[in-house]
Amino acid sequence: MTNFQKILLQTDFSRDDLVTLLSSEGDERQQLFHRAQSVKLQAVGNKVYFRGLVEFSNICAKDCLYCGIRKSNEKVIRYEATDEEILETCRFAWENRFGSVVLQSGELSSPTFVNRIDLLLQKIKQLSNNELGITLSCGEQSIETYRQWKESGAHRYLLRIESSNPDLYRRIHPENDFHSFDRRLQALQDLKTAGYQVGTGVMIGLPFQTTEDLANDLLFLKQIDVDMVGMGPYIEHEDTPLYDFRSSLKTKQERFDLALKMVATLRLLMPEINIAAATALQAIDPAGREKALTIGANIIMPNLTSIKYRKEYQLYEDKPCLDEDAELCRNCLEARIELSGCEIGYGEWGDSKHFIQKS
Ligand code: SAM
Ligand code: SF4
Repeated sequence: MTNFQKILLQTDFSRDDLVTLLSSEGDERQQLFHRAQSVKLQAVGNKVYFRGLVEFSNICAKDCLYCGIRKSNEKVIRYEATDEEILETCRFAWENRFGSVVLQSGELSSPTFVNRIDLLLQKIKQLSNNELGITLSCGEQSIETYRQWKESGAHRYLLRIESSNPDLYRRIHPENDFHSFDRRLQALQDLKTAGYQVGTGVMIGLPFQTTEDLANDLLFLKQIDVDMVGMGPYIEHEDTPLYDFRSSLKTKQERFDLALKMVATLRLLMPEINIAAATALQAIDPAGREKALTIGANIIMPNLTSIKYRKEYQLYEDKPCLDEDAELCRNCLEARIELSGCEIGYGEWGDSKHFIQKS
């Protein structure tokens, strides 16, 4: 047995082991994917769960240096879907047995915003007879707000750490307290305290990022005992400050390959968590999300955002499915998931096994 094969069979991994896995190529990379697939099947089974993604507003108070909808991007036409539109989309998700929705937006924390989400949560629960699971992805909020939203029906929250390296985090965000790494960490802790299934993740292939950084990101996810992970390739957007560093980037294909290796390696490290096949994978390879499902991911987030808003929620270039309606997306997705050999968990919440076992 080679040293690489020995590492693959471990259940605990050092940073060096993770770097070795993330650096694998050719036959060894295939062995990693094969092992991750079998660990996934053993730990969480073959089902893929849907989280219908509703990008309900692109208004954001923040200025993350990588994001196309950052506050300072004046080219973006700002929108806010109406309550009726959001509820109609959630009804579609429920009627089509999606199991769960993710309400995602830019980051705002005004009382109007907080109370609006609160009422929406209650209405979504009502219209679906409490059957629709609700994940929120609305940025950093106070612990009181997290508690209020949990009380009203949200039970999962996604807040990516973006990078667990505080120096790298600083380089991809404006230097002020509003964009502080410590605040981000505190927000993740607060979400845990408030009782959510907590999801976080990183961007892969950022300028200045090393393979050691990514290995540390994986150890960070393990150390904070996360329940769900969404991580995908960083993709440049020309109207953002980070675009200036595009010449230092790996190619998109390299970032895509690295993202798949991150998913597979994370599956070995944390077998029972939920791992999403990130939309950004599909921006590089049309079958990118299905490839991630085959080698370790078990969650997919079909985009249910109304077409009239989609092109204004361009976080990065080449964002997929800009002019496909939700139904069309669902049909093509269904066929592709079946081709990837997975089964769709229609109507099921598909909560993180890791979370259920520790509660
Ligand atoms: N505003 C909330 C937040 O930041 O947590 C939620 C929405 S935000 C658009 C969701 C995620 O999009 C971020 O966590 C970030 O990782 C990702 N994102 C933003 N710009 C990106 C880019 N250029 N490439 C890849 N992912 C990006
Ligand atoms: Fe706003 Fe989120 Fe984009 Fe940052 S990543 S600018 S918080 S939408």
